[in-house]
Amino acid sequence: MLSDSHIHTQYCPHGSDAEMEEYVKTAISKGLKEMTFTEHAPLVIDDPTPENDSAMSWEDVEAYIKEGKELKEKYKDQLIINIGFEIDYIEGKEEETLEFLKKHSDFVPHSILSVHMIRLSNEEYFCIDYDKDAFLEKISEVGYDTLVSKYEDTLYKALAEPYGELTPKTIGHITLINKFEKAYDQVDTIDWIKVLERIKEKGYRMDYNFAGLDKPYHKQTYPPEVLVKKAIELAVPLRFGSDAHHPDEVGRYFERSLKK
Ligand SMILES: [Zn+2]
Ligand SMILES: [Zn+2]
Repeated sequence: MLSDSHIHTQYCPHGSDAEMEEYVKTAISKGLKEMTFTEHAPLVIDDPTPENDSAMSWEDVEAYIKEGKELKEKYKDQLIINIGFEIDYIEGKEEETLEFLKKHSDFVPHSILSVHMIRLSNEEYFCIDYDKDAFLEKISEVGYDTLVSKYEDTLYKALAEPYGELTPKTIGHITLINKFEKAYDQVDTIDWIKVLERIKEKGYRMDYNFAGLDKPYHKQTYPPEVLVKKAIELAVPLRFGSDAHHPDEVGRYFERSLKK
């Protein structure tokens, strides 16, 4: 089962400029049998990050799909290429997100639903994984417990099939809230076993995401090994994801995984 189900492209403004084809070439050279492009779908809110670089632009959606389809055809004898999106679950903007999913329903089966943005007040969203200093600043502003409980709450909403049948049923990097955990003292109080049970109960798959290993304040997978073990015990289906934002990252650390 050598498949990388979480890959970004040049359409991501916080990634590399390397073309999609470069990611395909790496996948082939690493012996993957399957890969899935999951570019960040355009945001349905104003981007709360300083560089406004969280997601692809609306203008690029068709080009992304077209390029993906061309590559799928060109390399069909060498590996399977799927096209999806990484969809942000944005609390309060379910209808807007559903509009996008309706328009692009062909790509829902290979899409990932992730929580990067939490709603702190009516129109105030905060991007939890943008950068360490912004995260620490937010802790001192609203308190660590507020951030964590808001994240937990948002994650459960994402796991409640917020878009009905068009909900992407792979949940992205569930422990992303801990991306900068080595930069502060608190430990989250989330009952992760309960989260895994909910994933199982609702029939989602889980992104077993290796990007965290390269994050200087995290250094482990999302979620960490102990929870991956538990997920395997609970028979939660896993989807390996490099979350590559550069071609060299395709399939990163898969050889260290707990399950193949
Ligand atoms: Zn990204
Ligand atoms: Zn993500």
